[in-house]
Amino acid sequence: MRFLGVAFPPKSSLRYEAELDTTQANVLSLRVDGMIFSCDLMRAEISIPVGNLPIRIKLPDGWVFVVERSPELSQWLKSQRKIGWLDKLESNLFGWLISIVVCIAVIIGGYTHALPWVSEKVVLALPDAVAVELGEQTLEMLSSASEEWRDSELPEAQQAAIRQRVKSNLTSLEPLPYPVEIVFRSSTMGANAFALPGGKVVLLDELVQLAKTPQQLDSIILHEIGHIHHRHMMKRLVHSSILSVGVALLTGESSGVIDNLAGLGVFFLSAGHSRDAENEADLFAKQAMLTIYGTSEPMAEMFELFHQQESIEIPKWLSSHPDFDQRIQAARD
Ligand SMILES: [Zn+2]
Repeated sequence: MRFLGVAFPPKSSLRYEAELDTTQANVLSLRVDGMIFSCDLMRAEISIPVGNLPIRIKLPDGWVFVVERSPELSQWLKSQRKIGWLDKLESNLFGWLISIVVCIAVIIGGYTHALPWVSEKVVLALPDAVAVELGEQTLEMLSSASEEWRDSELPEAQQAAIRQRVKSNLTSLEPLPYPVEIVFRSSTMGANAFALPGGKVVLLDELVQLAKTPQQLDSIILHEIGHIHHRHMMKRLVHSSILSVGVALLTGESSGVIDNLAGLGVFFLSAGHSRDAENEADLFAKQAMLTIYGTSEPMAEMFELFHQQESIEIPKWLSSHPDFDQRIQAARD
């Protein structure tokens, strides 16, 4: 094949009409101005084909030949295996689809693996006092901002008895990252309990009344302590903050960050824990029940009580498990 293009002499900006002859096997011949420069094909530097950009061929003696892309040239490059992967990809829809899938996989992988990993490292690097302070702030905000939250109506003696039992239960468990403090409140939210950052566990009166035995109530308290043990609240807060800062950086929309910081209380009550976090808390509670009481049956019973309470709205942390029966089964296994 012969290709018409332009040639540049070594170390010169002069420009000549030229013809590249490729008819001879493994030899390139450049005809310029009545002269012929030949070389071994292997010794020529051929630029990587990208899109429709011209191809640049440099001969060992310094001559450079530049030729526009044409189907014939592509054909010749292909026969010389000089078609670049980028070029192939461009002319290959399947390749593009693969690239898109890989990009999406990287984003999802970042979200599901890298982000939790980074969040965990950040949480472990934060002083525990930060979490305790955040817990104080959250409780204060919930108490003052929400009309749904009232002081507990449980008798002082009952509150003291529950606190005492939790304290003694904790002595049989491994030390927690923060001191546990039981806070009693009443709410229209129904039977529920929450772990706040920094070791506070909020028990709603309705939950205390729903439990038929102290062991059943303890299984739920131990579930919340499981969240404390795994620092789930801080991980969620850091995870969500990194995410909203990331979104703000990408979109220039910063309201997500501000919402996050302003609405701490709402944040902890609204979005439930991830399924993995709930499983971890369940597992912690089950093992703690076995250590303390020698049985996790009260935990299964408590889940059943929730299940039967048609009139009471199922708490968020329970409703995040569609397969409720499985959770009861896991407590019994
Ligand atoms: Zn939970």
